[in-house]
Amino acid sequence: MKILEVKNLNLSFKTENGFRQALFDVNFDLEKGKTLALVGESGCGKSISAMSILKLLPKTAKITAGEIIFNSQNLLTLPEKEMQNIRGAKIALIPQDPMTSLNPLYTIENQLLEVIKIHQQLQGDDAKRKALEALEMVQIPCAKERLKSYPHEFSGGMKQRAIIAMALACKAEILIADEPTTALDVTIQAQIMNLLSDIKSQMGTSILLITHDLGLVGESSDEIAVMYAGRIVEKAQAKDFFDNPNHPYSKALLNSMPAKRGETLETIQGQPPTIHQDISGCRFHPRCSYCFEPCSKSVPENYVISENHISACFLNNK
Ligand code: SF4
Repeated sequence: MKILEVKNLNLSFKTENGFRQALFDVNFDLEKGKTLALVGESGCGKSISAMSILKLLPKTAKITAGEIIFNSQNLLTLPEKEMQNIRGAKIALIPQDPMTSLNPLYTIENQLLEVIKIHQQLQGDDAKRKALEALEMVQIPCAKERLKSYPHEFSGGMKQRAIIAMALACKAEILIADEPTTALDVTIQAQIMNLLSDIKSQMGTSILLITHDLGLVGESSDEIAVMYAGRIVEKAQAKDFFDNPNHPYSKALLNSMPAKRGETLETIQGQPPTIHQDISGCRFHPRCSYCFEPCSKSVPENYVISENHISACFLNNK
């Protein structure tokens, strides 16, 4: 069952040179209780797509077309007051830097109680019990004592767990995890990804994982959508994607993953375009080693590779 549908999302930024398009007909669905990884190099539009869902966009950004359907409602037409009841409570953000969501002046307990009071209308001992449960759920040792800590007394991994606890305390149906482990060391990264997987399987939470790191998504994701320069270029079930990647950009991303010992690490030639560059046809064509005659002239449609697997590349038309 689809819990979230992003349909034909188009977004532009106001710049010195007028409005410049940053998202081009972005389409993806999130299934209930599943993880969708939105993958691509930084600046490809994955975070701005996620922020569009929460309607937390910079003032210069303007959604010019599209729908974002959650619980049969188009979030893009929802008044801000109703959006406030969804943000944090039903759709919660796990940011890259947990300190953007934690207040250094308040204890973890105070911050958990605040969201529990607002979103679950619980008070007193009931709210305190809920706060403790949430911290235990994210496996923070000695949770009862740790409730009294301030954010600076937590490690990076524990801060991320506290943010996840806040989302769980509100019974969020969707977690948007935006590069949630970038600031953490490798062992802690794995622990946070395992925690997100446990939450998905135990509570049926749906997760939209935003990442540049394909290595991170392998075991934890059900579906993968690869984004390049504001477009989704390939979408597939995770196993199918890793067994049978189709789009040259996806293949290049996979080849640039940290190599096994002794293998050479490949890099993708060139740079992704900036928002100020006009690119005709396939937006990957200036960097694509398979580029041929039609690629710079027209935009490739989504070709069906197999069930639930699409790729926007003219090579599938040969
Ligand atoms: Fe490369 Fe052409 Fe496919 Fe784009 S459409 S990825 S340029 S082969």
